[in-house]
Amino acid sequence: MQQKLTLKVLPSEAASTEALRSKIAQACAIEPASLTGFTIDRKSLDARSRQAWYQLTITAFIDEPFVPRAVIAPALRDVSKATRQVVVVGAGPAGLFAALRLIEQGIRPIVLERGKDVRARRRDLAAMNKEGIVNPESNYCFGEGGAGTYSDGKLYTRSTKRGDVQRILNYLVHFGADEKILHEAHPHIGTNKLPQIITAIRDAINAHGGEVRFEKKLVDLVIDKGVVTRVRTADGEEIPAHAVILATGHSARDIFEMLHGKGLQIMFKPFALGVRVEHPQALIDAAQYHCEWRSEHLPPAAYSLVQQVDGKGVFSFCMCPGGIIAPAATAAGEIVVNGWSPSKRNNPYANSGIVVNIEEEDVQPFRARGPLAGLHYQHDVERKAFDAGGGKLVAPAQRLVDFTKNIVSGSLPDCSYLPRVHSTSLKTVLPPAVHASLQAAFREFGKKIRGYFTNEAVVVATESRTSSPVRIPRDPETLQHPQVRNLYPCAEGAGYAGGIVSAAMDGERVAGMI
Ligand SMILES: Cc1cc2nc3c(=O)[nH]c(=O)nc-3n(C[C@H](O)[C@H](O)[C@H](O)COP(=O)(O)OP(=O)(O)OC[C@H]3O[C@@H](n4cnc5c(N)ncnc54)[C@H](O)[C@@H]3O)c2cc1C
Repeated sequence: MQQKLTLKVLPSEAASTEALRSKIAQACAIEPASLTGFTIDRKSLDARSRQAWYQLTITAFIDEPFVPRAVIAPALRDVSKATRQVVVVGAGPAGLFAALRLIEQGIRPIVLERGKDVRARRRDLAAMNKEGIVNPESNYCFGEGGAGTYSDGKLYTRSTKRGDVQRILNYLVHFGADEKILHEAHPHIGTNKLPQIITAIRDAINAHGGEVRFEKKLVDLVIDKGVVTRVRTADGEEIPAHAVILATGHSARDIFEMLHGKGLQIMFKPFALGVRVEHPQALIDAAQYHCEWRSEHLPPAAYSLVQQVDGKGVFSFCMCPGGIIAPAATAAGEIVVNGWSPSKRNNPYANSGIVVNIEEEDVQPFRARGPLAGLHYQHDVERKAFDAGGGKLVAPAQRLVDFTKNIVSGSLPDCSYLPRVHSTSLKTVLPPAVHASLQAAFREFGKKIRGYFTNEAVVVATESRTSSPVRIPRDPETLQHPQVRNLYPCAEGAGYAGGIVSAAMDGERVAGMI
């Protein structure tokens, strides 16, 4: 017999199979020997009160053989001789999952990626961190696996209506992720584990007759009577395509320029911009777990904050417990920061983007740029941050309380951002409305999390690539661009996803439509 049950257990009990077996036997009123095994179907942490608890949903196997949960694998076909060939531009989560879905349907994907494979890409990340040098084709945003490869790998998404989250998570497990992502309420993979998973996906695409080609940058679409016939790459090659999936992410500014230059419709899209704040992880742990020291059975604590300031939304974004602030610029002369964590989240810092919603009226100073106004607004802030830092990806920064009081900090606390931080006034970097909203929001956040409003924390500019500032329109039914029948704008860069899982789901959705 199988029995479903929910259990509320202490963190120490959740960490011990023996303790769980005994709790399950007790809850089912059976002898422990009758329990042949169990699966955890859902695990969520409740740390609202002084004593933290795990809430578990469990399937217990009683007096019958235990059957571990099966992981759903993609049903990949041999497409080496397929007559239909789809060009997928971008090997981020959207492009890779689109390619897998095409192969499942018997269509041959050719994935073009401007950046390098995960291994070669690592050298370019080292050059950013150690020497402050940006390779515009290979960085934290561009390269195999896209912007998600060297990220925290948080897999939580709210966009459950847009696709099958569980299938994406199952495929990730099939390609090497830990099975626990299937039951954790807020799963994450970690920067150290993501590259192997991405490599396994690429190997599967190639092994089934698809193709993933690196250092292949799309520069043009050859369009005839409203249909793309070929794509052109930077090295002059022309590749024929039955359809093109454009999954180039939020930082492919040249793609937006290219589409606009060709007279293809694109439009402004609201986005968010601000800073990244870093606290000692121990401070966040103490506040969130209501204790002096975090128990070894609890994960480094996270937080999620939101505040309205004069009708503008200010919120935490991509919070990385035990993480590192990363340089996420894609061109020389700009500062962009983001965050990542290793799978154990064992760095002594907790960082998070704190960003302000940017609407069309905010980007009016750049209205001459038409639908690219948001992009130029974003870039202007990134350039000012670079100048304020003094070059070589050194980021301008201020202690948190000093930031709210317009005081240039006399010194800065230790910070995880490897290219270094430089103390200066962020008022010279951020647009006045964003600066004022952040100042007010930080004071309010200090009321929500004990100890948060402290000069032990450092504010680093600028968190500007939260989502795409441009939308590439598509027909809601066919998912095709209104002017080009076989062009499929996809995922984050086109404005239809935000985050790894939602981008992967949109990739699947578009490929399914083809
Ligand atoms: C440091 C960091 C940490 C993050 N942490 C998380 C997290 O923990 N959880 C989460 O859900 N999300 C996170 N994100 C966001 C997440 O990575 C993105 O939402 C997601 O990767 C978007 O997927 P995508 O496939 O739409 O685009 P991308 O991942 O941006 O992929 C686009 C790909 O297209 C390629 N490309 C661009 N232009 C061209 C061209 N002209 N020709 C060929 N190829 C091109 C790029 O090189 C890139 O590889 C993080 C991002 C960063 C930078």
